[in-house]
Amino acid sequence: DRGIVVAIDGPSGSGKSTVSRRLARELGLAYLDTGAMYRAATWWCGRTGVDLDDVAAVAAAVRAMPLTMVTDPRDPRVVCDGVDITDAIREAALTAVVSKVATNLDVRAELKRLQRAIIEDAAGGAGDHAPRGIVAEGRDITTVVAPDADVRILLLADEQARLARRAKERHGTADASTIEATRDEVLRRDADDSTVSTFLTAADGVVTVDSSAYGVDETFAAVLSVVTK
Ligand code: C5P
Repeated sequence: DRGIVVAIDGPSGSGKSTVSRRLARELGLAYLDTGAMYRAATWWCGRTGVDLDDVAAVAAAVRAMPLTMVTDPRDPRVVCDGVDITDAIREAALTAVVSKVATNLDVRAELKRLQRAIIEDAAGGAGDHAPRGIVAEGRDITTVVAPDADVRILLLADEQARLARRAKERHGTADASTIEATRDEVLRRDADDSTVSTFLTAADGVVTVDSSAYGVDETFAAVLSVVTK
């Protein structure tokens, strides 16, 4: 008797975090934001003074990282070395360099291992809780981390929609100037991440949901209908 595993991938601005978290909340599942783990790894390198260009040192630091992911979707938190870094890992300066850490193949292997352990704990019911399942979101969950998930969704949105959402998040409003200010951040990170994630087509068995023309509620409804089908 296993809990359900829902895997959701998508680029930034696709709405995947909002939708994944809400899905977990409404279905009573755990929630795992794997992007937050790459961000935490980046924060930890800064904290321990590791040069992000030193591939071997970054990998060694991440293997020793004391990371705790709190997977309650009502209040997901990231704690590293006893510090709650949930907000700190969203800062622009960290966001600008996270791809350096995320393209390190040894880092990816280590975080994949941690992600699979968290997913197994939530879905397999190891320990003292009954299996209930988990929604895990990121860039390579449907393909690499949990290719055998019960439900696999690729959430896409066109560039204009992604930029508008990120501009609203960052600046409170999406107009010509805030969208322009956001363009560089979003598109440069797409390019920086392109060796680890390509979103042109979904892998076999992965359901694509295009949220370009949708608001949050419509996107959520579309994803929910895939999960409950
Ligand atoms: O989703 P978010 O923007 O927080 O992800 C931060 C970064 O983490 C991405 O830009 C990407 O470099 C990396 N990432 C990844 N694989 C994942 C999730 C995120 O490489 N599964």
